[in-house]
Amino acid sequence: MARMIGPVCKLCRREGAKLYLKGERCYTERCSFDRRPYPPGQHGKGRVKVSEYGKRLREKQKVRRIYGVLEAQFRRTFDHAAAAKGVTGERLLQLLESRLDSVVFRMGLAVTRADARQLARHGHVRVNGRRVNIPSFIVKPGSTISLVPGDAEKERVKKAIEVARSRDRAPWIELAADGTSAVFKAPPDRRDLEAIQPIEIDEHLIVEFYSR
Ligand code: SF4
Repeated sequence: MARMIGPVCKLCRREGAKLYLKGERCYTERCSFDRRPYPPGQHGKGRVKVSEYGKRLREKQKVRRIYGVLEAQFRRTFDHAAAAKGVTGERLLQLLESRLDSVVFRMGLAVTRADARQLARHGHVRVNGRRVNIPSFIVKPGSTISLVPGDAEKERVKKAIEVARSRDRAPWIELAADGTSAVFKAPPDRRDLEAIQPIEIDEHLIVEFYSR
């Protein structure tokens, strides 16, 4: 299965923003973007005039990288959003937040989306009691997401739950008291997302990018 590989901190530097792809490290002084907030490469520090097309491209790449989705899948998700009722950009973000890996991440069962994707892919996650190992699976509102019994005892999961307790909770997810299962109430609206997402997103630029 195709997946993103390579040094993820370079992605933040390329996009000119912290994308929080490394979990705890992103909140420490070891963050590469904080230390070198310019694009990677020999000419990274040089001034580059960005065209309108370039701005749209970068915004699309930024969101794709935040959610860890490859181009073909991102395009398919955009097409679904465009075909659905409502505002395309907002619908796109809702679809990305409805992915199983996103829901597992927002539940706090993993410190990064990449970890959440791995948890799902390795069959540790259930949706309405049935094991689902497809990270891109779209979770329907009202579904219950839980860990396979026994997995909550794994050190990695326990640490993630502990970290998540110190962060803002996603209001569209109703977490059980022990933190290992939750109900996905509904895809978040723009305001809810903005309240807990530390990264600024201008989804209109993505719509313009694909509408060229
Ligand atoms: Fe790396 Fe900082 Fe980006 Fe986290 S926010 S992935 S530490 S550059």
